[in-house]
Amino acid sequence: MIALSKLDEIKKIVKESVDEKKPILVDIARYLYENPELGSEEFKAFEKITKVLEDHDFKVEKGIFDMPTAFVASYRGKSDGPKVAVLCEYDALPGVGHGCGHDLIAASAVGAGIAASQAIGELAGEVLVIGTPAEEGHGPSGGSKVIMANKGFFDDIDGVVMLHPATGWSVGGQSLGVGKVHMTFKGQTSHAAASPHMGRNALNAATLAYMATHMLRQEAKRDANLVIHGIITEGGLANNIIPDRAVLDFGVRSSEEPYLEEMLEKVARCGEGAAHAMGVEVEITKNKFYASMKVNIPLVKALWQNYKDQGVPVRDWKESTTAMPRASTDYGNVSQKTPSTGSSIAIAPPGTPGHSIQLAEASITKKGLDAMIVGTKALGMTLVEMLIRPELLKEAKEYFDSN
Ligand SMILES: [Zn+2]
Ligand SMILES: [Zn+2]
Repeated sequence: MIALSKLDEIKKIVKESVDEKKPILVDIARYLYENPELGSEEFKAFEKITKVLEDHDFKVEKGIFDMPTAFVASYRGKSDGPKVAVLCEYDALPGVGHGCGHDLIAASAVGAGIAASQAIGELAGEVLVIGTPAEEGHGPSGGSKVIMANKGFFDDIDGVVMLHPATGWSVGGQSLGVGKVHMTFKGQTSHAAASPHMGRNALNAATLAYMATHMLRQEAKRDANLVIHGIITEGGLANNIIPDRAVLDFGVRSSEEPYLEEMLEKVARCGEGAAHAMGVEVEITKNKFYASMKVNIPLVKALWQNYKDQGVPVRDWKESTTAMPRASTDYGNVSQKTPSTGSSIAIAPPGTPGHSIQLAEASITKKGLDAMIVGTKALGMTLVEMLIRPELLKEAKEYFDSN
C-alpha cells in the first residue's frame, strides 16, 4: 500500500498542472461556447480538443467506431497497468447553444487528462480522454456512449469519471434508463354510420392500449422511479370513417435496469391485448436506448473526497446517490459496463433551468469557469488515485460485480 504522503504529493502535481493549464482550458470552453455545434457535427470542437491533447503528447485515435467526431486519446505511464478514463462531451443544443454546459465538460476532461498524464510519469497504467459525441442524441452518432458500450469499448477500462455543469455540487447521482415502445394498429375502414359493422377500429385499439398502459402504474414498483409518458400520433383521418390506422408512442423510464426491461414488455403486452380485443393487427417495436446509472460507491467516495478537500460545499454523497433521478444519459450505458461515476459542479444559481440560454451564459462566467477548474482537479486527482491505489480499483470492481 502506498503511503498517504505519496498520494498527496501526486495530487498536488495534478492541482498545479490544472492551474498552469487554466488559460488553455478556459480557451477551450470559450471557443466551444462561441462555436456551438449540434451532435455528430462537432467538427470544430473535435479539432480544437484533439489538437490540445496531441500537443500534450497524447496519442489520439480519431473517428472511432465510424463516428467522425469520436476519439480516444491515450497517455501511457511507465509500464502496463490499469486503464482509467475521463469522458469528454462537446455537443450543443439547437437554439440554446451550450445550454447543457458541455463546453465545460470538454474543458474539464482535457484538463483532467493532461494533469493526470503529468503526474503519472513514473507510474504503471494508462490515462484515456474519450471523446463521446452527440450526448443529446442528435445525428448518426447520437448517444455515442451506447454505441461504444455495446461494442465492448469500455470492457477493459478499469474506472471512468466525468462531470456535468449544474446548479449545485454533488457526486454519484443516479439517472433513469429509458426505452420506447412504438405501436402501429391496423384495422379496416368503413362508413361510420352506414356500415360500422364492417369496420375494425384501429383508434379504439390504440385508446385501449393507452388506458391499459396507464393502469400498469398501479402495480409500479415503488422504489424503481417508473415514468411512462405516451402520445397518440395518428388516430384517423375523418370522423365519418372508421380509422384503419392508429399509432402510439410511449417512453418508459426507470432507475432499475431489469425492471425497465420488464416494463417495456408489459407496455407492449397492453398493445397486444388491445389489438386482440378490437380484432385489429398491431406491429410493436420496443427498444431500450439509455441504461440507468449503476452507482459505484467506492469511486463515488474517492471523487467526492477530492471535491470536499478543495473546500467546495459538495452535497453528502449518501444523499446524492439516493436522490430521486430525473434525467437520462448515455453515461448510464458506460456505468453498466465498468465502474463509473459522475459529478455535478455548481456554475449557476439554484433555479436556473437546464437546457437554457442562462445555463449556457453561466458556463463562461467567472463562477462557471472557476467551478470547472475545481471539477477538473477533482477528476484529475481521482484518475491518478485509481492508478496508484490498486485497492481502490479492486473495491470498485468488487462493488460493481456484486451490485
Ligand atoms: Zn443535456
Ligand atoms: Zn448534458
